[in-house]
Amino acid sequence: MELINKLEVLADSAKYDDSCSSSSRQYSPGGMGNSAPSGICHSWSDDGRCISLLKTLFTNSCIYDCAYCINRASNDRLRVSFTPRQVAELTVNFYKRNYIEGLFLSSGIKKDPDYTMEQIAETLRLLREEYKFNGYIHAKAIPGSDLRLIFEAGQLADRISVNIELPSRESLENLAPQKSALDILNPMKNIGSRIGEARENQRKYRHAGKFVPAGQSTQLIVGASPESDYKIMKLAEGLYSSYNLKRVYYSAFMPVKPDSRLPALKTPPLLREHRLYQADWLLRFYDFEVEELFSGARANLDYRLDPKLNWALNNLNRFPVEINQANYHDLLRVPGIGPRTARKILETRQEASISYQNLKKLGPVLKRARYFITCQGKYRSGIPFREDLIKVRVREQERGNDYQQISLFSEEQEKAEELNDRVV
Ligand code: SF4
Repeated sequence: MELINKLEVLADSAKYDDSCSSSSRQYSPGGMGNSAPSGICHSWSDDGRCISLLKTLFTNSCIYDCAYCINRASNDRLRVSFTPRQVAELTVNFYKRNYIEGLFLSSGIKKDPDYTMEQIAETLRLLREEYKFNGYIHAKAIPGSDLRLIFEAGQLADRISVNIELPSRESLENLAPQKSALDILNPMKNIGSRIGEARENQRKYRHAGKFVPAGQSTQLIVGASPESDYKIMKLAEGLYSSYNLKRVYYSAFMPVKPDSRLPALKTPPLLREHRLYQADWLLRFYDFEVEELFSGARANLDYRLDPKLNWALNNLNRFPVEINQANYHDLLRVPGIGPRTARKILETRQEASISYQNLKKLGPVLKRARYFITCQGKYRSGIPFREDLIKVRVREQERGNDYQQISLFSEEQEKAEELNDRVV
């Protein structure tokens, strides 16, 4: 089979892996350019740049039969595999033509985990040592493979991910019976320790070697098993704190083949996925703890509202905060204020008291923030600060035509703030 046909098959099979954020999509016919068929996706490098990656599987053959996976052994599909040199040459050729800045390489499990991991490590070795490729590489660590092989890959890759896939041992046993929690968590733990050691050595010794400098990530499938959002977020919180994880990706379960063990979903739970990402953002950059996001006996997020806004509405006794007096932590809790704006507010008010007009220039999303702040003692939401009125007004606003726009704009702005924070 021609290399380009192989790439079409393997790039298509790789699109279900979200642990490398993908933004490629099909454009309308007649236009110029289309990154989807060739497997080009976009991701964020460690310094906050958006980079394009060749996203492909090494092989879509798999000896395992995970119920949720399109590449499962029992699925009748065309199976193809690359050789390490083919992947290396494709990457280098795409790179030279300026199509991509890096590679995301995952794989089904061919023969056994060690064989597959060897192929991935060999691909990375060829790229780095033979082709002198300095671009970004994100590689998948195969659960159950020898740690020595994973470490070999880790010395060559920028980022490594071991996909945890399901939020509990029971679900793993039910839906991916050939995988074990130990085979997933053990490499994660060891990669996490190695990352910590490498960072420490680099602080001490100028020429110390790097190990997975862009950190490790993982992917959790949402909606294929019965775990609540609370359970998923607790797991994510534990992974961040114990395994040095850079990022957990949440992937809405896409039904690809009927199976009695799976829920009969017509469409993937994309809104749930979106809310989990927002909640995850709050854990990582807004000092939230999981317990705070689940009020009362609620085990799932309220999908109608973004979690920060929902938290604020459930905790109106902590508002309004005065822009000219609140500390950083309290400013960060205001919907519409992100870390960068909070810092700007603190800096600006060292010089002079901030007026409402000046506040606008500092970048908060006032459409949201105005219900939760006072500025120079004045409350300017247009309604009295009364719990019942605010809840009704904010919920109406969120339900209205601009509901999605507000949500996405706010998130994008806060994401941009976070990226700026890392760049500065
Ligand atoms: S091991 Fe990976 S590729 Fe194979 S069936 Fe399971 S999820 Fe799919």
